[in-house]
Amino acid sequence: MQDIKKTYTSKKKGLSKRILFSIGEQCNMNCRFCFYRFLGERKFKKVREAEAEILRLMEGYACSDIDITGGEPTVYPELMEILEFCSRAGLKPSIVTNGQRLADIGYCKRLKKAGIEDVLLSLHGTRSSHDYMSNNPSAFSKIELAVDNLVTTGIPFRVNTVITKLNYTDVPDMVGIVSRFNPVCFNLIAFLPIGSWDDRSRGEADELIVRYSEAAPYVKKAIDRLEENGCRHINARFFPFCTMKDYEKYVCNIAQIPYDVYHYDFSSWLDAPDIKKESEYAEMSHQLNMQENTLSDTCLECDISAVCGGINRKLYEYNAGCEEAYKMGRKIEEPLFFKERKV
Ligand code: SF4
Repeated sequence: MQDIKKTYTSKKKGLSKRILFSIGEQCNMNCRFCFYRFLGERKFKKVREAEAEILRLMEGYACSDIDITGGEPTVYPELMEILEFCSRAGLKPSIVTNGQRLADIGYCKRLKKAGIEDVLLSLHGTRSSHDYMSNNPSAFSKIELAVDNLVTTGIPFRVNTVITKLNYTDVPDMVGIVSRFNPVCFNLIAFLPIGSWDDRSRGEADELIVRYSEAAPYVKKAIDRLEENGCRHINARFFPFCTMKDYEKYVCNIAQIPYDVYHYDFSSWLDAPDIKKESEYAEMSHQLNMQENTLSDTCLECDISAVCGGINRKLYEYNAGCEEAYKMGRKIEEPLFFKERKV
């Protein structure tokens, strides 16, 4: 089993030094689970505006890496200019991408030349489930080419997989295919109907939301496969700990995120540069959990509720309650308790 501690920052080494920058919401796909699915007009920022914002972020945060997200950054006409700008400013740039443009090896070479550090690829299943989730019949074929091209050009990649009712049974097979290409990090993320999702999109959410208890065995099987193939950094994100029994060290919820070197600093997303100390991150995590999540009666009796965060409010009604409360003999407050525990 991997020593997951080594890929997380410890208290001594500090918190994640990665920031998030959104270039705008424009995109070349229309994925069924997208945060922005119900957003009206989607626009990109102008280059100078983007550069000014990156400099402002650099002043506010002690950062070394930047995840450029969209929308879809590869649709942005001046992406290479932005990447070069980040490199010159001393940041290691990365893009969060659906990978469609990376099917062109010439484009990957341009990314490399512009100084890209790695890419965070969205991959949501085997061919049929990925294409259906992405609303695009050729999406998976292009991702296959993209992965080949990334390997050929020597650009490392991480993977984000959103777990929904449409793909959860496929996730172990998908992981088996892609993990042979050595992704640096693999995030298995429970779908959250947040962002532009609201009560009016309830019908669409019903198509996507899967109960934790149904998805968890497949998520665990996927983790086993990633382990077998040597992936060093695996996250099950936004899963209540009690649904991931024996796999707790992989769970990365809001309280753990500030320590994940492959996740951007939450405070850069919230535009809260004053948050600097661990105790302030803990308070921020608590407030986000109060805002987004709910605690069931079982959670109220659970000794790890502070590090788990409970259940997303919108998902709660689909999950008739959580599993068993943890009884640890004391209230656990350390966010990395399960990662640091000798299991
Ligand atoms: S706080 Fe609630 S959801 Fe989290 S592990 Fe405990 S019982 Fe489960």
